[in-house]
Amino acid sequence: MRRFLGKATEAGIEIHMGKRLVAIDETEDSVKVTFEDGTMDTCDILVGADGIHSVVRTMHVHPSFEPSYTGLSSLYSLVPIRSIKSPLYFKGNFGAIMLSSGYFSTGFYDKARQHMYWWNTHEAAAKDRDEWTAMERSPSYQATSQGEDAEYHHSIVKEIIDISPDIKFYPIYTLPSGGKWYTGRTILIGDAAHGTTPLFCI
Ligand SMILES: Cc1cc2nc3c(=O)[nH]c(=O)nc-3n(C[C@H](O)[C@H](O)[C@H](O)COP(=O)(O)OP(=O)(O)OC[C@H]3O[C@@H](n4cnc5c(N)ncnc54)[C@H](O)[C@@H]3O)c2cc1C
Repeated sequence: MRRFLGKATEAGIEIHMGKRLVAIDETEDSVKVTFEDGTMDTCDILVGADGIHSVVRTMHVHPSFEPSYTGLSSLYSLVPIRSIKSPLYFKGNFGAIMLSSGYFSTGFYDKARQHMYWWNTHEAAAKDRDEWTAMERSPSYQATSQGEDAEYHHSIVKEIIDISPDIKFYPIYTLPSGGKWYTGRTILIGDAAHGTTPLFCI
């Protein structure tokens, strides 16, 4: 990402962060985009790299092509290595433990091996978008989902979860194959076009 930003700056390309696309108007000659803050821009081509819930896809390229919930959700966080007292259970850069509730994975986040990321993927009932958002913000959900599995209560798994400063929640969606991924002047790339389902969800 840093390299990409560096190359863009060298080429004199302006980058605006924190913009939220809310409307697209494509004609034969150009694409006009409108952002949530009321600003607009007009371009020759629009590249929709806005993830599995892509608004470029749902508002413009293929509105009826909906992602579906896989039945699995992830909890994840990042912890400083110096906070972990137990010996690490893996050699190399990555390790995984199969819990009865799902997959618990850990790995080094940075080259200097100062931070470890972890995530746990487990089955969770489907909810609508507002309920997902409420759940993500609820510390009680995180506590409950961890507490339900006795395996969380011992070993390095419990230690890593206990020292995690901020646990995030992520429901995993997938897109069916096929679907339209371009119009005359707009193209979808990445998850917006072909939502990558992690291997452990297949
Ligand atoms: C649990 C899990 C584990 C995974 N593990 C791996 C792995 O080990 N290796 C691997 O290669 N892949 C993995 N993947 C898949 C990988 O994360 C995705 O394929 C990848 O992040 C997709 O990148 P993207 O840029 O297309 O979309 P995203 O990373 O989703 O980025 C989309 C961006 O668009 C922005 N956006 C959304 N809406 C708007 C809007 N209206 N206006 C402006 N911006 C907007 C978002 O803020 C975001 O920055 C995993 C996925 C999951 C769920």
